[in-house]
Amino acid sequence: MGGIAPLFRKSRGRRLMEALPKFRLHRPDTLDEALATIKAEPDARFVGGGTDLIVNMRRGLVETPALIDLNNVAEMQNIAHDGDTLIIGSAVTLDVLAGDKTVVRDFPAIAQAAAEVAGPTHRNVATVGGNLCLDTRCIFYNQSGWWRESNDFCLKYRGEICHVAPKSKRCFAVFSGDLAPALLIHEATISVAGPGGERQLPLAELYSGDGADYLALHPGEIVTSVAVPKPNLQSAYRKARVRGSIDFPLAGVAVGLRMADGKIADLRAALTACDTKPFSVGGLDTFLGKSVDESIAQDFGEIVQQQARPMRTTMSTPWYRRRVVARLARRLLLELGAS
Ligand SMILES: Cc1cc2nc3c(=O)[nH]c(=O)nc-3n(C[C@H](O)[C@H](O)[C@H](O)COP(=O)(O)OP(=O)(O)OC[C@H]3O[C@@H](n4cnc5c(N)ncnc54)[C@H](O)[C@@H]3O)c2cc1C
Ligand code: SF4
Repeated sequence: MGGIAPLFRKSRGRRLMEALPKFRLHRPDTLDEALATIKAEPDARFVGGGTDLIVNMRRGLVETPALIDLNNVAEMQNIAHDGDTLIIGSAVTLDVLAGDKTVVRDFPAIAQAAAEVAGPTHRNVATVGGNLCLDTRCIFYNQSGWWRESNDFCLKYRGEICHVAPKSKRCFAVFSGDLAPALLIHEATISVAGPGGERQLPLAELYSGDGADYLALHPGEIVTSVAVPKPNLQSAYRKARVRGSIDFPLAGVAVGLRMADGKIADLRAALTACDTKPFSVGGLDTFLGKSVDESIAQDFGEIVQQQARPMRTTMSTPWYRRRVVARLARRLLLELGAS
């Protein structure tokens, strides 16, 4: 291979997106129908808003004979309460989630994260399930077919080498969904249904940590809903991105804080776009019983920075992304502590 083709070289008449290939479209109305459809078409892909999947199909990154549209599945449509638990159907759109009064009041980090995804037209159709399951990203992967081919593809799809870490046998493509960290600090669990029946698991267990095979779902499993216990803490979400109005996070952080008698009684943080999966920051018990001030916020930012592990998967450097996520975390803690 004669080096990597420049990322923004003119396409010289080649299309950056190909026409959408032909596929069969199924529109089940119930979960049972959706499961029967995937049993009959095991190579089909589920689709919510299609704002991630359709782009990847047009780039030749996903080949599938059929799509199963989950938007009409009755069991996945609503935001409901079960005692003190909020249940969010995975076909709920991000626009609806961001505007839901209970979510805005009790789970501000979740509402803020939903409102920060892409642009308004995406959020009108993009779903909770699609946001949690969206593909991992990398500058060597989210490219047109001709660009990837001219660089011998890469380990994640059709190639043999990782251009980010050429000696590695694993993919480091980054998970860049905004909702996951906000749900993680709220200890969300997800329900999934598939050929083997239904099961519940902590959201963190949805992700495998492998940038290529990034979900830990069994074949044919659908994420049907997310359950979040009523919180006993304040929360907020913030992200850094290149284009303020419409962009994936270069790094994003959700912070949850509960104060008692002026001291920290609970402190949580979770990151996105800093690794192959979203994850909760560890080691925060050390702050319990302390006041929120500049010095504590600085220490908190340092712990966040140490645990963020972005690789060279975006145009921004890992160094910048680690610094910026630490700064965002520090600010959020000070803001929550002052409110
Ligand atoms: C210009 C642009 C900017 C973007 N900016 C952001 C951003 O800032 N933040 C961000 O988080 N995302 C961003 N995205 C990606 C995408 O728009 C969102 O992540 C969106 O929430 C994906 O939801 P969807 O319903 O459209 O997913 P889809 O495209 O329908 O699906 C995504 C993946 O999830 C799978 N899937 C969908 N629903 C389920 C389910 N219920 N169970 C199991 N698997 C399922 C699909 O098979 C597919 O693999 C951006 C996209 C574009 C094009
Ligand atoms: S990190 Fe993954 S997507 Fe990026 S070049 Fe390496 S194998 Fe490809």
